[in-house]
Amino acid sequence: ALTIGIVGLPNVGKSTLFNALTKNTVLAANYPFATIEPNIGVVNLPDPRLETLAGIFGSERILPATVSFVDIAGIVKGASEGEGLGNKFLANIREADAIAQVVRGFEDSDVVHVEGVVDPKNDMETINAELILADLETLERAITRYEKEVRGKKLDPSVLAAAKEAQEELQRGTPLSASKVDIAPIAELGLLTAKPFIYVFNVDEAVLTDAAKKAELAALVAPAEAVFLDAKIESELIDLDPDDAAELLASTGQDESGLDQLARVGFDTLGLQTYLTAGPKESRAWTIRKGWKAPQAAGVIHTDFEKGFIKAEVISFDDLVETGSVVEARAKGKARMEGKDYVMQDGDVVEFRFNV
Ligand code: GDP
Repeated sequence: ALTIGIVGLPNVGKSTLFNALTKNTVLAANYPFATIEPNIGVVNLPDPRLETLAGIFGSERILPATVSFVDIAGIVKGASEGEGLGNKFLANIREADAIAQVVRGFEDSDVVHVEGVVDPKNDMETINAELILADLETLERAITRYEKEVRGKKLDPSVLAAAKEAQEELQRGTPLSASKVDIAPIAELGLLTAKPFIYVFNVDEAVLTDAAKKAELAALVAPAEAVFLDAKIESELIDLDPDDAAELLASTGQDESGLDQLARVGFDTLGLQTYLTAGPKESRAWTIRKGWKAPQAAGVIHTDFEKGFIKAEVISFDDLVETGSVVEARAKGKARMEGKDYVMQDGDVVEFRFNV
């Protein structure tokens, strides 16, 4: 499954946010190193199109796409050298497809800041420096191994060259995602700074409603995406019914919860999109990568769908809504028969034809 790893200094609100993410009650404690075990939380990707489809097809249930988050320990200065919780915890994010860094923007004298002051820029530099150091350590070990393998003619020298190039960039302080190094040959290393990044600013209500302040923080991390939320409000929102939740959001100047935003931004950052299937049983969104062709997309439902793929009947969501039914869409020529080279589009409503 595609996952986003959550990192940040201790006491920035990771557990609070993660509780909201999973609707679980993992202990959010007011002291560093409270979060130790990695946890996985799955959130629904909000998609109002599914309700519309369920209306058209009379579906019994709705199954949205999901985004998975892995909660990992807070990173302190020196984490990569085994201080604090140590490098072994960074291993938990090697597997993640993207990294969400939670940054503390809220002021609260009751909540200790590990570095003494609330300073988002400094905090991000601390975390990013630790991630660079962790990557350098990974590379050092890999390069020793690669050198042996190249000498023994067991490895293409281009792999070693890529590793050395990455090492040089990191030594200069450049995260790999901001460099031009082709990391494809060393993808197996799961280098942390090569992953797409999202910044989650955990801020006070005052900042949520302050567009200028938000723009200032967003500029610090651009071109990476910034999401603004108040983890405490997020944890309150999950206990409210939809109307009360909407009211609370509106009172803080938001039209969408932070978690919904995070799911959406995470989805985009991972280069994902959805296609839809609908029937009397369920209306459902399926997750695929942008650019996938029809048989590959069919394979997400079942591997047999991919192997036995014949064709796909595709109606765009907008055409379906406009015509009101599959029968009408067909009659108006809006239902297309697509073959194995068809590149899927976001919001395609699909029925696959296949051999078993
Ligand atoms: P973690 O160490 O990053 O997982 O941080 P926690 O989620 O455990 O939060 C540390 C403390 O900060 C807890 O006492 C939380 O209640 C508090 N906290 C988290 N988010 C907010 C917030 O947005 N505003 C305020 N005032 N306190 C928060």
